[in-house]
Amino acid sequence: MNEYDNFFLKEAFNEANKALLENEIPIGAIIVDENKNIISRGFNLTKKNKCRLDHAEIIAIKNANNFFENGLYKNSILYVTLEPCLMCLFSAMTCGISKIVYGASCKEWGSVSFLENFNENSNFKKRIPLIIKNNKYEEEILFLIKSYFDKKRV
Ligand SMILES: [Zn+2]
Repeated sequence: MNEYDNFFLKEAFNEANKALLENEIPIGAIIVDENKNIISRGFNLTKKNKCRLDHAEIIAIKNANNFFENGLYKNSILYVTLEPCLMCLFSAMTCGISKIVYGASCKEWGSVSFLENFNENSNFKKRIPLIIKNNKYEEEILFLIKSYFDKKRV
């Protein structure tokens, strides 16, 4: 653990304290660019926004969006107080965040625990929605997407 990580994790912790003052579950996050500048902050806003998706990481990721070209968060680091859930992990991946540093484990929703213990973790399995593939329109669906990318290449 290097001193930068300690410093930025503390900054995320400060965000978590802001959440507590707002009567939110106290989780905080920040995003740091490749030059070690804090470009975005966020804390949990699930109660205020009445939206279960508004985790600290999602708020920080959305707040950083104007900073990067094409919404790709190249060489950036997400610092978050609590182990990110799968949604936040995949959101960070989708935006191209290259590293995540978290401060405490979350046995119930944490993505690291999920990936390590998927087969033994019945808590997760219980919550996975029923997923069904219906291939009636599969060709049309894939053709539509392909035609979009073909058009972009011209
Ligand atoms: Zn999350």
